Amino acid sequence: MAAAERIRIVLVGTQHPGNIGSAARAMKTMGLSRLVLVAPEKAPNAESYALAAGADDVLAAASIHETLAEAIADCRLVLGCTARSRRIALEELEPRAAGVRAVSEAAGGSEIALVFGRERTGLTNDEYELCHVAVHIQANPDYSSLNLAMAVQVLSYELRMAALAVGPASAGEDERREPPASHAEMEGFFSQLADTLDVIDFHKGRAPESAMRKLRRLFLRAQPDTREVRILRGVLADAQRMARLAGERDA
Ligand code: SAH
Repeated sequence: MAAAERIRIVLVGTQHPGNIGSAARAMKTMGLSRLVLVAPEKAPNAESYALAAGADDVLAAASIHETLAEAIADCRLVLGCTARSRRIALEELEPRAAGVRAVSEAAGGSEIALVFGRERTGLTNDEYELCHVAVHIQANPDYSSLNLAMAVQVLSYELRMAALAVGPASAGEDERREPPASHAEMEGFFSQLADTLDVIDFHKGRAPESAMRKLRRLFLRAQPDTREVRILRGVLADAQRMARLAGERDA
């Protein structure tokens, strides 16, 4: 997804290297790749790579900064993810709205950061003040603190949903769809379909029009492209050939 290239996940002061790897994996499953670490207690190690599984590329490309201010210096929107509400009043969004906002601003060309705090203590008030918006996952109020990588997963999923909602063009990864087949290509297919239904004795004495009308409606609704119509016609040609062979055998 194109917008994803302008969205970074920032982990501040992470205490468990394993969580860094799990966060990288969470990101990659959702098509995100920009991981930024701010003063991690321990640099990514073997445990991080083990938990990253196939996302070691995301982990290896992670940049490391001394301070949060440095990590987000070029960002136009900074979303601070927090497990609890604070004294400092920031605009607060739930993950779905945060995803929509981040993706739409990234699509407009802005750099965006989603910031996650330390496992034990979250973000400091000074770090939190650098954020423009607070994001809170509405968890069980009596037990609202998610594992760091799981919080990253929830937000990454919402970013992906928001990007997909904008359309496959901006999601970028979907196979590009060819334009639908032309009218003439569709009529060529329908005429071969009608012939084939005769050859395989599909109608069994009934008038062919009603079945053909329904089949036309079905295939027109599907809007196959030229390549798909060619495959369908290949199937029909084989069906006709098999019917002919069976006819010769029975004769
Ligand atoms: N005890 C810490 C919890 C930290 S959990 C505290 O009270 O802040 C590590 C990080 O995961 C948090 O800093 C936050 O960025 C993210 N996180 C965990 N649970 C979350 C939730 N319910 N909503 C948003 N982010 C959450």
